[in-house]
Amino acid sequence: MKIYNTLTRQKEEFTPLKTNEVGIYACGPTVYNFVHIGNARPLIMFDTLRRYLEYRGFKVNFVQNFTDIDDKMINRAKVEGVTVKDIAEKYIAEYKTDADGLNVREATVHPRATENIEEIISFVTALIKNGHAYEKNGDVYFRTRAYTQYGKLSHQPLEDLEAGARIDVSDIKEDPMDFALWKNAKPDEPFWVSPWGNGRPGWHIECSAMACRYLGATIDIHCGGQDLIFPHHENEIAQSECVNGLPFARYWMHNGYINIDNRKMSKSLGNFFTVRDVANKYGYEPIRFLMISAHYRSPINYSIDLIDQAISGLERFYNCRNNLDFLLEKASLESYAGDGEFIKSFDMRKAQFIEAMEDDLNTADAVSALFELVRDINTAVSSESPSKKLLIAAAALFDELCGVLGLLYNRKSNSIDEEIEALIEKRQQARANKDFKTSDAIRDELKAKGIELKDTPQGVKWVRI
Ligand SMILES: [Zn+2]
Repeated sequence: MKIYNTLTRQKEEFTPLKTNEVGIYACGPTVYNFVHIGNARPLIMFDTLRRYLEYRGFKVNFVQNFTDIDDKMINRAKVEGVTVKDIAEKYIAEYKTDADGLNVREATVHPRATENIEEIISFVTALIKNGHAYEKNGDVYFRTRAYTQYGKLSHQPLEDLEAGARIDVSDIKEDPMDFALWKNAKPDEPFWVSPWGNGRPGWHIECSAMACRYLGATIDIHCGGQDLIFPHHENEIAQSECVNGLPFARYWMHNGYINIDNRKMSKSLGNFFTVRDVANKYGYEPIRFLMISAHYRSPINYSIDLIDQAISGLERFYNCRNNLDFLLEKASLESYAGDGEFIKSFDMRKAQFIEAMEDDLNTADAVSALFELVRDINTAVSSESPSKKLLIAAAALFDELCGVLGLLYNRKSNSIDEEIEALIEKRQQARANKDFKTSDAIRDELKAKGIELKDTPQGVKWVRI
């Protein structure tokens, strides 16, 4: 597989350090609010990367942190009148609801900053020891200028970064570019005991410490949003490489921005959507489909039209797949001479799909290959009586490829089954209460849905008529 590496600015052949294992670190959310639509993109795209690598036979260790202590967390706790820990628990639970809705799998590990304070302290201690950091009034800062490779990820000299950065003017730092590794606790702030007094970690240090703890000194792929390249990822590299003396991440993948109606998404413009807002209106899966339909590095201009397109694209996928199920129930076992040609065309689509994914996770082209597969399947099954062999081949391939993209996870058959089970349960209760009028009405209602009930010694069974 080829991956565009932000570090070298070119597509490179991906080879993990260990033969069949890949270690991925993804910067996760600060859990002080609902996930917004911009943050949904890396979640979905790097979940897809993980799924694809697993599909190709790799064991993937996927680490994604939760930042559960920083200024935003502290402010939010004050506003809501609860503890920082309460805020973290609440929004981690909300995150999980959204991640499940988007079919983003749980990471192998979801480490939290506050559960890794010991590792963070030993990282900071090592940096002070080797001269890369210094303590001032209970704060600890990284000595940025002393690390000559600083800026290698953003491909800019320190001077340019400095000009573009919003630097806090603080007279206690040796240099304006120095950044905090440890912050002295202000009154009423949560704190941990450290060699530099009571305080809490800066933001960047947690990722260096946790990546090292869970994946080792050098990781295969580090990913995140493009907005994290500077300063967050530059700082992670500086911290990790100055402690370990080894390259930090071998491949850096960054997803592009999301604009809303051609404007940058921001709270002040009032065009700031959470995943929950959009999902409540349109469902979660169109969001996933929309993100997958674009290459992860391209910008996305989010609009209602794009959601509408995603909904109709998904409808085509679901119709095709549900039709296969419907036909399978009555297909003959015989195969036909023409099956081979069709199955060959399906295989071609699969090759096309893989070729796209191998090329820097080009999910946009992979989705196009799926649309062509849908067209091929629809043609193949439009004959009067498609064979079971053909239908099974089509359904298996369609499920396989949709599974790699994490799509089609709301198959109707499941929800219909649940609905039927609920009605049967209701009918049983009516019968137990000798309410035969209701029980007959339910039987008729099910019949209208194409379901016939059979009372057997083992209980009520149902079949599709
Ligand atoms: Zn990070």
